[in-house]
Amino acid sequence: MRDPIFPVEKFRTLRTPFYYYDCQTLNETLTCIRQEAAKHANFVVHYAVKANAHPRILNLICQSGLGADCVSGGEIRAALQAGFPAEKIVFAGVGKADWEIELGLEAGIFCFNVESVPELEVINQLAADKGKVARVAFRINPDVGAHTHAHITTGLAENKFGISMRDMDYVIDLAQGMEHVQFIGLHFHIGSQILEMDDFIALSNRINELQDKLEARGIQIDHINVGGGLGIDYQKPTEHPIPDFATFFNTYASHLQLRAGQTLHFELGRSVVAQCGSLIAKVLYVKQGTDKQFAILDAGMTDLIRPALYQAYHQTDNITSEGEVRKYDVVGPICESSDVFGKDIPLNEVKRGDLLALRSAGAYGEIMASGYNCRELPKGYLSDEL
Ligand SMILES: *Cc1c(COP(=O)(O)O)cnc(C)c1O
Repeated sequence: MRDPIFPVEKFRTLRTPFYYYDCQTLNETLTCIRQEAAKHANFVVHYAVKANAHPRILNLICQSGLGADCVSGGEIRAALQAGFPAEKIVFAGVGKADWEIELGLEAGIFCFNVESVPELEVINQLAADKGKVARVAFRINPDVGAHTHAHITTGLAENKFGISMRDMDYVIDLAQGMEHVQFIGLHFHIGSQILEMDDFIALSNRINELQDKLEARGIQIDHINVGGGLGIDYQKPTEHPIPDFATFFNTYASHLQLRAGQTLHFELGRSVVAQCGSLIAKVLYVKQGTDKQFAILDAGMTDLIRPALYQAYHQTDNITSEGEVRKYDVVGPICESSDVFGKDIPLNEVKRGDLLALRSAGAYGEIMASGYNCRELPKGYLSDEL
């Protein structure tokens, strides 16, 4: 348990709002991932770049030895630029454009996680044009629910992602008849912010069934990729700065029946970067409403959209006051009623000019910022540069 030490005096010299990333938390998280994964033979961890693509964060993650999981050409570029070797990059996404596939082929990425037959055909064609062979894995929709917000479950038959289990044999046969793709494995990703290990057990059981079916047809696969999804403690970031990677990896180790020589891949996003980041915002006004008080910040949903988009909770601390605790509705300046970070939030007495930290904002925060209302994008600072 460790409270982040916010360098408030330095914060006062920076233009708000901005993201602040605590290097110690990030490094301890990366060390934990590395140590826990190393306890299992053939576990390979990739970082899901979409959670946070700050160049220095990418670089630190790359240095810790993780691979990169990309969902766009832009992310492939960002990963390469940060130093990830192409052979550690996997590329997922339900709608890969031709130029993105070409970029992946030219870089020589490890694998395309293919989500449909037409995509497979296009990859085969584009690889043929370049005289290359693309390694492909099929993203299978396992029809496994995840106990998380409806907007971030991805593994149900009704979701747009992946190839249905019914079509799995057909697409594998199709790939094996193509000259410019090499079928190397199966890919899954059932959702995000998952805290119930039962969901990962259900996925493991499903994969076991699918593997048995494939084996009965004499089909061997070298790589299984179970995606990401491990959740973090948004309620208690100080008490639980590092997710329980040990239990996560052990759950797969004891339930997924890996065959000899198979590699198990993971794509972790949120669990790697969420707890190291906070959005630092300044209080512009304290407004007395009819029966509540509003703390109006200079940060809004354009800087951190998770509360508006997923009804997400971010613990909020007044880092410049030790006054009596009162309750506030913490809101942004954007012209949208959904621009609310939280209602009835207990905070040390708030005055104009105070700085608030919205915690656990390192994942899906800065990267999802927009310029709506002609607002400037927030900057991101790492603790070692302040
Ligand atoms: C978003 C995503 C991830 C990462 O999910 P987290 O919940 O952030 O760990 C991994 N794989 C794929 C294919 C994704 O789309």
